Amino acid sequence: MFLGVERMQIFDVIVIGGGITGAAAANHLIAAGHSTLLVEAGDFGAVTTSRTSRLQYCGLAYLNGFESFSTIATQPQAFAQRLGLARRSMRERSAFVRQSPERLQTVDFYLPIYARDAASPWKMKAGFRLLDMMDTGGEGLTYTFLDANAARAIPMLTGASSRGALVGAIHYVEYQYNWPERICVDTVMNAAEAGAEVRNYCPVQHIEREGDGWRVTCFDKRTKAPFSATARAIVNAAGPWVDTIARAAGISVAQLNQGEKGTNIALRLPAEFRGQGLQTLSRSGAPFYLIPWGALHYAGPVNSSAEADAKGFVAQDNEITSLIDELNDLFPDLNLGHEDIVYSWAGVRPRTYAPSAPSGGSGLQLHTPAMTGLPGYYVYTGGLLMMHGQIGREIATAVTQAFSPSREPQAVKVGPRPLAATDQRGVITSVDGVSVPVSALNDMVARESVMTLEDVMFRRASFGWNEHLGTDVVEDVAEAVRETAGWSKVEAGLQIMAYRETVNRSYKFRG
Ligand SMILES: Cc1cc2nc3c(=O)[nH]c(=O)nc-3n(C[C@H](O)[C@H](O)[C@H](O)COP(=O)(O)OP(=O)(O)OC[C@H]3O[C@@H](n4cnc5c(N)ncnc54)[C@H](O)[C@@H]3O)c2cc1C
Repeated sequence: MFLGVERMQIFDVIVIGGGITGAAAANHLIAAGHSTLLVEAGDFGAVTTSRTSRLQYCGLAYLNGFESFSTIATQPQAFAQRLGLARRSMRERSAFVRQSPERLQTVDFYLPIYARDAASPWKMKAGFRLLDMMDTGGEGLTYTFLDANAARAIPMLTGASSRGALVGAIHYVEYQYNWPERICVDTVMNAAEAGAEVRNYCPVQHIEREGDGWRVTCFDKRTKAPFSATARAIVNAAGPWVDTIARAAGISVAQLNQGEKGTNIALRLPAEFRGQGLQTLSRSGAPFYLIPWGALHYAGPVNSSAEADAKGFVAQDNEITSLIDELNDLFPDLNLGHEDIVYSWAGVRPRTYAPSAPSGGSGLQLHTPAMTGLPGYYVYTGGLLMMHGQIGREIATAVTQAFSPSREPQAVKVGPRPLAATDQRGVITSVDGVSVPVSALNDMVARESVMTLEDVMFRRASFGWNEHLGTDVVEDVAEAVRETAGWSKVEAGLQIMAYRETVNRSYKFRG
């Protein structure tokens, strides 16, 4: 260090953004032999990657809107693109099930079919069969058709709905991530173990051309000092902020991203609904899910075109009302209100800009230097958690085709990292039943780039995303990691206050 400014470092590639897209890119780039720096403005996986519906999805929704032959015939290219996405979903689903089974749980989903639906029972069966056939990964799709009587026996489908006569349902088994943020953190830590430099709380402030490559300047919130690094290539994986970063740097490229806000609510439904998921269409014809989550269900999303600003990451009251109305339309007998909501969340999906689609296109797109017109400048848009393995490979392959790596390639490290074993310090257990050894919490703080208590609660340990959002153990966790984190008692108290404030403000927790 010199006058508070770190010595400049030289890398093959700098990845901007430590959500799942940037994490997967860094992990595959370092394995391909590129010396790699990953910089993230906040904590790894803390933004869009933490606000998902948590589905490692079979891709059925991609076929939505193509129920009639005339639509397929008039829009063959759009249909082919959607089929391609559904195929990718099925393949990646199989790959992830085999790679990280401990990060997934299965959900029994019911998909009701009403007499007035565009997709009749035989079309639904054909859709499922098609998806199953497209899965070359071997996990396949488990599904059964239920006739009207069998469908009405399912508690979630028994009650009256304004949607008309039920003619049947499909029961299928879907995979749900039990902890998306940790998938991102594990991917970052696997990259670090393979030799990548990974820095969170380092927002990029400036990007400029230097020689044949790029110089990136960040502000390190830990040292409170700027640092610069150069590289031959940049991968802008900043999700909904890819254009903001380019604009701030004076990089002249066309708009590449279009944000789409999605909002979900978590609530407690009748006991007989427990463990069952529902997939249907909202009153406006968009995919709508009710997904079991422990003793709760979460419902959503309600979507709207959005900027990646603070409002995009908090559910607004009108959005919550719209979700409650949707549920009351499905289950009029429940007569749900705002008081039934335990918490809510929202995120801004990074969608690939498409001039004709107000909320962006559904495609995933690597914008190469040939497309951006800027040497060594790569941008990823439309990145999805459920496709992150493919995305990381795609980015590393493209960069390697253009630039020779400076190191020997190595196998890509994937999958969860083991937890430190329990020692005499015991475990912390929340009322929601999450147990984490104190040794493991301290190991995370010491080795996994933790800066705040929220990092520990939501992204290193899994106390956060439960019915009580970790509020019952936050003091215990703070005290358990205080010395390793280097927090005084006062600082630990401030961390606790900041955590409670986040839970109340960002999740509107009503515990
Ligand atoms: C409601 C909702 C439901 C969803 N459901 C699913 C689902 O069921 N399954 C699924 O697979 N996907 C789902 N998604 C989509 C998925 O969450 C996202 O597409 C994915 O997480 C995007 O990851 P990302 O890394 O591209 O973006 P992000 O996670 O947003 O990461 C971008 C990162 O860039 C960082 N950054 C920004 N500016 C800077 C800067 N100046 N310097 C450094 N870093 C910067 C940000 O801090 C952020 O961490 C859902 C999304 C939403 C909103």
